[in-house]
Amino acid sequence: MSEDKATAKTSQPGPEAIESVEELLAHAYVIEVDAVERYNLLADQMEVHNNSELAALFRKLAGHEEHHAKEILERAGDKALPKLKSSDYKWGEFEAPEAAELDRAHYLMTPWHALQMALRAEKRAFAFFDQLVKTAKDDEMKKWSEEFREEEAEHVRLVEELLTRYPEPAEDWAEDPDPPVYLE
Ligand code: ZN
Repeated sequence: MSEDKATAKTSQPGPEAIESVEELLAHAYVIEVDAVERYNLLADQMEVHNNSELAALFRKLAGHEEHHAKEILERAGDKALPKLKSSDYKWGEFEAPEAAELDRAHYLMTPWHALQMALRAEKRAFAFFDQLVKTAKDDEMKKWSEEFREEEAEHVRLVEELLTRYPEPAEDWAEDPDPPVYLE
């Protein structure tokens, strides 16, 4: 799942190039909305696997992230958040959009794989805000970044905790005797 990552590397500026609270909040909003999509997809996958416990957990996390997304809009108040085009993104090396990864979500994905995907995304979000804390242009930006970083740290801890309950599957997990036909 990781080979394409390297080739997809962009020379996009990183969070240190974010200039205003509005721009910061717009990025945070995208991270939350992506997270909602990801957790719903992972919940779908776990339903396919009849893992209702993990499906419910992912669904809950999706709801949690959705709440955060709404909160960002509310707290932005009068500040009009810029609508970011992909060329406006300043993810730098923390490249947030995981659309490509989601496209490849394997239909045989086990709970362990689902949690690994969640963990990668949460860690990336944490690293993004961590960098922002260090490079924020003013105190308000720094304060927001610290808050978001704390939330992401909480998510990382939660997913890591779940991983202790769902160990890595045996190596032959993906050998399907009757593979589905993929339409590209
Ligand atoms: Zn998160």
